[in-house]
Amino acid sequence: MISLKVTNSHCPGCSLLCGVQMIEREGLLDVEFMKDCDINSGKLCRFGIELARYYGELQTSALAGGREVSYEEAVTLAAKALSSSRGAGVALCTGDATTEELYALSLFADAAGLATTLGLGHHMHAVGLEAFHKTVTHPDVLDHAQMIVLVDIDPAYQYPLLARRLMLVREQGTTIVSIGPEKEHLSFYTDARYPCHPSRTVDALRAFVEHAMPHALYVVPCGMYGDAALTAQVNNICAATSSRALFVTDFANVRGGLALGMESLSHGIDGLVASIEAGDVTSLVLVESPLFSSYLDDARFWAACETLDALVVLQSHRCEAYPPNAIVLPLPPFYQRKGTLRNVCNRRLVLSGEAEGAVAVLRDLGAAMGHGLSPFDAVAKEARSLCDAWYETVATFTPVELPPQAGVEGPCHRYVPNPYLVRGMPNPRSKRVGLDLYAVAKGKERYVIREDVAEDVVFAYEKDPRYTLPLQPYE
Ligand code: SF4
Repeated sequence: MISLKVTNSHCPGCSLLCGVQMIEREGLLDVEFMKDCDINSGKLCRFGIELARYYGELQTSALAGGREVSYEEAVTLAAKALSSSRGAGVALCTGDATTEELYALSLFADAAGLATTLGLGHHMHAVGLEAFHKTVTHPDVLDHAQMIVLVDIDPAYQYPLLARRLMLVREQGTTIVSIGPEKEHLSFYTDARYPCHPSRTVDALRAFVEHAMPHALYVVPCGMYGDAALTAQVNNICAATSSRALFVTDFANVRGGLALGMESLSHGIDGLVASIEAGDVTSLVLVESPLFSSYLDDARFWAACETLDALVVLQSHRCEAYPPNAIVLPLPPFYQRKGTLRNVCNRRLVLSGEAEGAVAVLRDLGAAMGHGLSPFDAVAKEARSLCDAWYETVATFTPVELPPQAGVEGPCHRYVPNPYLVRGMPNPRSKRVGLDLYAVAKGKERYVIREDVAEDVVFAYEKDPRYTLPLQPYE
C-alpha cells in the first residue's frame, strides 16, 4: 500500500501566504498547487515551488553549548538560564508562527517578564498601530484601485505573486506608478517610474502626491529593514487624500502578531542589538527568527547574542551554526502545525496540520519555570477573539511628524529582501550598505553589479550558480 498524506497549507515565504498543498508520499515531500485558493489561484513563485527543499532542512535535535542534548535537558537548561538572567529580556518572533503560537509566546513573555517584539517597533513608533488595521481584505482590492503607487518596493523580487496581480490589474486599466530606486525591470507592469536615491524617497513621494489622484492605493514595504520615514509619509498621504495603504511585510503572520499587540518596542532589530550591546537586554527568546545567520548585519547580531546570559532559540529550519551559548529547541515544520494565520490583507487562514509547534514547547518551558499555559484549544479561542476584534477595526491614518529618512548619502548598494534572503537561503539577492562598506561590497566577486538604476544607486545581486536570471515574477 502506498502511504500518502495531503495537507492543505499556506506558503510561509512572505505575508501573502499563498495556498499550497504539501504531499507526503513514501517518506518524500512534494508541493501541489492549490487551484481553489483565491489568494493565488494555484500559482506559486519559485520559493513556493521549492518549499519541499525549505522544509527538508529541518532542525530536528535540541542543542546546548553546541552539542546535541535531549529535549528535556534543553528545556531545563533554557528555563534555568532565563530564570537566572540579571537584566531585561525580550521575546522576538519576526512572524513565521501561527497566531496561536504567537499568543502563547506573548503569554509566556508576560509570565517570564519579557518584552515582546516582531522587529517592527520603528514603524509602530512612527505611526501607531491604528494605521495597520484593516485597509484591505483581499488582493482583489488592487483590481478596484484607479491608481496604485509602489513606494520603494520591487514586487518581482520581494512578493512575486503581488507582481502577477499588478500585471493583471494594469491590463484592466489601473494606472501603476513606482517611486524608488528601481527603474528598468518594473517597466512591464508600471506606467511611470520615478527613480530616486534611497535617501530622497520621502521627498520624491511628497513631490509626486501634488499631482496624484485621491483615493489611490499605496503599496509600501514595512519589514524589519523598511524605512519608518516612508511608512510615516504614506500614513500622512492617506490621511490627507483619503487613500489606502497596503503595508507589506516579509514574514508570514506579522498581522497575527500585530493583532495580538505583540510589538512593544519603539525600535527595530538594530535598536534591539544596541540594547544587548549596552547590557540593557540580557536574555533573548527567538522564535523562528534565526537572525544570526540571515540578518543584514548578521555578524553584529551574532556577536551581540554571544554576550547574552540566556539565548533560547525555537527553530524549525536548520541553521548552519548557532552562537555557542544558544539553547536550541526544535519545532516541527510550518506545514505540520495546526492553527490560524492572518495574511497581509488581514484574511484569516487555517493551517491544517496536527502539531501544536511552539505552543507545546512554550508550555514545557513555562512549566519548568513555574508557570502554566492552557491547553491548545483554550489558547486558540482567546487568540481568535483578540484577532477578530482587530479584524473588525478599520485603519485610521492620523498625521504624524516624519522621522528622519534612514537612507545613506552618496553611492549605495540596495538591499532587497526576498523570501530566500530573509531565511538565509541562496538565491539572487542584494544588499544596501553605507559608504564605509561600499568599496568592499563592490569589489566582492559574488556580486553581479548593475549600475545606473537611479542616480548613485547600484543593484548588486548575489550570484547563485543555479540561477542566471532574476527571480521570476511567478510560475
Ligand atoms: S509570493 Fe511566493 S513566497 Fe510569497 S507566499 Fe506566495 S509562493 Fe510563498
